[in-house]
Amino acid sequence: MPTEAPAPPPLTATHCPYCSLQCGMGLRAASGAPGGLEVVPRDFPVNRGALCGKGSSAPALLDPRLRLTEPLIRSAATGRLEPATWDAALALVAARLGAVGEEHGPDAVGVFGGGGLTNEKAYALGKFARVVLKTSTIDYNGRFCMSSAAAAHQRAFGVDRGLPFPLQDVARTGCVILAGSNLAETMPPAVRHLRELRENGGKLIVVDPRRTRTAEQADLHLAPRPGTDLALALGLLHLVVAQGRTDEAFIARRTTGWEAARTAVMAHWPELVEKITGVPVPQLRAAVGLFCDAPDGMVLTARGAEQHATGTDTVGAWINFCLATGRAGRPLSGYGCLTGQGNGQGGREHGQKADQLPGYRKLTDPRARAHVAGVWGVPADSLPGPGPSAYELLDALGGEVRALLVMGSNPVISAPRAAHIEGRLRALDFLAVADVVLSETAELADVVLPVTQWAEETGTMTNLEGRVLLRRAALAPPDGVRGDLSVLNSLAKLLSCEETARKFPADPETVFQELRRASAGGAADYAGISYRRIEAEDGVFWPCPDEDHPGTPRLFLERFATDDGRARFVEVTHRGPEEEPDAEYPLVLTTGRVLAQYQSGAQTRRVPELDAATPGAFVELHPLLAGRIGVADGDAVTVTSRRGHATAPARVTAAIRSDTVFMPFHWPGEGRANNLTNPALDPVSKMPEFKACAVRVERAGPAA
Ligand code: SF4
Repeated sequence: MPTEAPAPPPLTATHCPYCSLQCGMGLRAASGAPGGLEVVPRDFPVNRGALCGKGSSAPALLDPRLRLTEPLIRSAATGRLEPATWDAALALVAARLGAVGEEHGPDAVGVFGGGGLTNEKAYALGKFARVVLKTSTIDYNGRFCMSSAAAAHQRAFGVDRGLPFPLQDVARTGCVILAGSNLAETMPPAVRHLRELRENGGKLIVVDPRRTRTAEQADLHLAPRPGTDLALALGLLHLVVAQGRTDEAFIARRTTGWEAARTAVMAHWPELVEKITGVPVPQLRAAVGLFCDAPDGMVLTARGAEQHATGTDTVGAWINFCLATGRAGRPLSGYGCLTGQGNGQGGREHGQKADQLPGYRKLTDPRARAHVAGVWGVPADSLPGPGPSAYELLDALGGEVRALLVMGSNPVISAPRAAHIEGRLRALDFLAVADVVLSETAELADVVLPVTQWAEETGTMTNLEGRVLLRRAALAPPDGVRGDLSVLNSLAKLLSCEETARKFPADPETVFQELRRASAGGAADYAGISYRRIEAEDGVFWPCPDEDHPGTPRLFLERFATDDGRARFVEVTHRGPEEEPDAEYPLVLTTGRVLAQYQSGAQTRRVPELDAATPGAFVELHPLLAGRIGVADGDAVTVTSRRGHATAPARVTAAIRSDTVFMPFHWPGEGRANNLTNPALDPVSKMPEFKACAVRVERAGPAA
């Protein structure tokens, strides 16, 4: 008799732990596999079964040998982090945060969150800061990621959601301008949507100072000098106006503010824009032709366009371009931001941002405060006001801010002017870090709390499309590891009382139920979204105000989210980067990511196959520049800015402008690119200018 094959182990449908694409994947137990889990392709609209190497290797980090499995306390005797019990670690965190708050006031205790935290954790962290610590000093690393796009979205459309349409719409539009995104390295599965766009006859224009793998696939590649994206967008709009290709009916019916924006744009004539950006006038004309000849079109920006001291205005200029051409508020057209971190979107909707309350409510709005305070069971006037932005907060460490709780962030690598920020962290009276691994920031801590990750915990994420997703736990965490929600519950009890602790349940679904109530009526309304619905529908788009509401995949088709329902043009004019090249620092440095690494690299640098693929930093420079300074491929070069220096091997390539050098920012030590970057802040979004600073480059030695 044939024997029946044993049933395969159960499959957990979930999503990748890394970027905001949040690719769908399945996980199932597999003995001998890294981390004890096998990744199985799963059909999900953004990735349709495809994963990049980061996603497919993600279980490796579940290996207890690669991650933290016990709390650590810095020993007064040895100065080293030593294993400790949870009771001792939590008691010390509570005692020191409490003491600093007592002595210096509540705002002297800071909280720094992360764009990888689930919605439940981001919500609970913001509530913990305001209800337990009573501090206004809370922000998160998402401020470094897409805050300029968020601010510009708010200004023009009255609401901020990365993409106002599902990603699949990209394949069906007529023309896409991709400004400052290297999707082929940052989100490879998303490239299939661009490929399908072109197969369908659509056009792709890529704006990037480097001829990246993404730019290679474009119909037209514009390579502006870093820091001149704003002039480029204004120059294109100038041509649209000059050629009479504005959509006057759309402008009259759906927008306000066009006259002032149009007047401002007329100062940006093509020859001037060519001089500023280095993009030849015929290429500017070709871009306008491709975009306006198509029946519909989209502009998608990412960090390349946004991480500037002019980031909000740059995105504003691209939105003006969409509005003036009538490419907004209708199917297959619009402006969108390709958000970066896994939950960069949800992280800023639910309260860990310095100025926001859950549901994308403003902390300065009395009605918003009353609503959220009611859900939290505290008086509205007990809630602190808005606090400093991420860089301002980090810069104040050791000064006005004396103690810090970090959850899921590694600013020692990811903050601009990183050596200075590392110094500020060292100057704190007390630093506690909750993380999965001993990151470079955790290495500086007085107490390190080992917490659960991704496949070990359940929680929701909101991807770049505004689609709320559920990650289910696929396996139990190692002994000695606790969830962030459990940590907040324990700290609430120690810092306050049992009753306060009950406001911080450790069960994620209970937290989500409360989040739904807190967000109800807000711009990012999750009231109708439940775990059950997310699983049944494989994600629900916000806003979704009640359980009968289908969710909102496409925003703005009827009206924009402003008071009068019209999109607002914004009057913007060009300003260059804060630092222009000069005799001492004659080049521009721009920074970014590589395929095999993710953000500060705290996770991906520990995964053997990702580390092997790209084990360290490098400096990309053009052959003309390399020849001028006597550098051969592989030679060590030192890049110096007004803030510091970094040394890494040279990669000589014609794919970059000869006045520009590029460094990825994932590594510590000599190759830490953020030693160099400029913390000049955008006045609206407080986004630092990661993407352009003046540097010089010198040969430091022969190839290793
Ligand atoms: Fe994960 Fe992003 Fe790679 Fe998808 S593209 S597998 S979400 S890192």
